[in-house]
This record gives sequence, structure tokens and C-alpha cells, in this order.
Amino acid sequence: MTHLTDTQLQGLADGTLRGPEGMSAREHCEDCSGCGAELALYAALAGKLSALRDPAPPADFTATVLAAAEARETQLVQRRHTLLAALPAAAMAIVAIVGWALSAQVNRLIDGVMWMRLVVGVLSPVVETVRVPLVLGALAFVTVVLAALSRTLRPSHRVTTS
Ligand SMILES: [Zn+2]
Repeated sequence: MTHLTDTQLQGLADGTLRGPEGMSAREHCEDCSGCGAELALYAALAGKLSALRDPAPPADFTATVLAAAEARETQLVQRRHTLLAALPAAAMAIVAIVGWALSAQVNRLIDGVMWMRLVVGVLSPVVETVRVPLVLGALAFVTVVLAALSRTLRPSHRVTTS
């Protein structure tokens, strides 16, 4: 009889190899010291693996997880509520800032127009009284300039014609 394969030994160790095949394999292990030792090794390994596979959860595991999830959910809901409550406030703040800026701009425009009106109102009589002398002065200035120009041009004209 041939020795058992690793698959057969593992099946024997974890109890998945049953029936006639399992019976004959077990009988072989009782007679064969090599396969018996390997089966003992696999059995010990399977026992350790199954112990690892099912770690005992702490008694309050579920309660702790549920409490943590609930706290997280509450936190999220609160944050959402805070955001929702902050949105109108932010919108109102933006409207207030824009409105304030606009009104400041309009006030400045009105102030500017009023200042211009005031300046024009104050200056218009002055301009009215000053206008005639200004026009006369401008005329006199132009006359002087034209006279100077004609005086400087005349000799050169004379030189070119003679
Ligand atoms: Zn064997």
C-alpha cells in the first residue's frame, strides 16, 4: 500500500475525508509511523488554525460598534444641521455685504454729484463775471502772438523776395 498524499492527510486532520476512503487512510496511519506523524502534525496545525479562525469577540463588541456607529451618525447629522443653519446666515451676510457696498457706492455717487453741483453753483457766477475779461485777454494774447509772428516772418519774407 502506498503512503497517503498531503491532501488525504489534511482531509483526515480537518475531518473532511470520510467514508471508506477515510477509514482506509486512518487505518494506514495507525500502521505507518511516517504518515501517522504527518497526520499528527496536520491535526495540530488544523486545531491551531481553527482556534485562530474563531477568536472570541469581546462581550461588549457589538454594543461598542453600535455605539460608535450611532455616535458617528449623530455627529454627521449635527454637522449637516450646522451647515444647513449656516447657509442662510452666509447668504444673508453676502446680501448684507453686497447691499452695503452698493449703498456706499450710490452714496459716493450722490455725494459726487452734489459736490459737482455745489462747485458749479458756486463757480458759475464767477465764471460769468470772469468770462468777458477772459475773452478779452485771450483776444489780446492772440493779437500779440500774431503781431510777433508777423514781425519775425516779415524780414525773412523780404530777404527771399529781394
Ligand atoms: Zn504511510
